[in-house]
Amino acid sequence: MQLKKIILKGFKSFPEKTTLEFNQGVTAIVGPNGSGKSNIIEAIRWVMGEQSAKTLRGDRMNDVIFSGTNERKPLNIAEVELILDNSDHYLGIEYEEVSILRRISRTGDSTYMINQQECRLRDIVDLFMDSGLGKESFSVISQGKVEAIFNSKPEDRRGIFEEAAGVYKYKVRKQDAEKK
Ligand code: ATP
Ligand code: MG
Repeated sequence: MQLKKIILKGFKSFPEKTTLEFNQGVTAIVGPNGSGKSNIIEAIRWVMGEQSAKTLRGDRMNDVIFSGTNERKPLNIAEVELILDNSDHYLGIEYEEVSILRRISRTGDSTYMINQQECRLRDIVDLFMDSGLGKESFSVISQGKVEAIFNSKPEDRRGIFEEAAGVYKYKVRKQDAEKK
């Protein structure tokens, strides 16, 4: 599985439709301070189901919508689409190419799509949780996370190993089943 493309529209500092394509190998995103590098990583977290505005450095989820500059009016909708090559069927879904889309409007409407079909947030979260790429996984390591791992309590560190070993998803399912 490979990240092929990310398309941002109205997300944080990207008011214009912005497409980033990723080729084979390592991709580095470079740019001056404040140019939007972290915003791109946050867009990936967001479209994969992040529900904490704080993790995305905001107070409310609406803070991901472009809030305007001196030259540009604020926008009312933010949208991120992630396109993944799934020809090896790493994600448990039959499509060779998988598109994940998340949209939010200032009025509070949220839309989630997998391959242009509307779905629930839960479907997106589940798709990635099964792959070990979920929002709690270590596929995205943010500034400060490394330090947090070193300083964490033993039981929290155990959680990190459970996620890496692929046990975490079963724990979540067991907890869900016990609640029912
Ligand atoms: P650094 O090198 O310092 O880590 P960076 O390239 O990671 O910088 P970001 O943190 O991604 O930069 O971008 C910060 C910029 O994004 C700030 O200028 C901030 O005003 C802008 N920004 C964040 N949220 C929004 C929003 N909702 N609307 C418009 N601009 C936003
Ligand atoms: Mg940054």
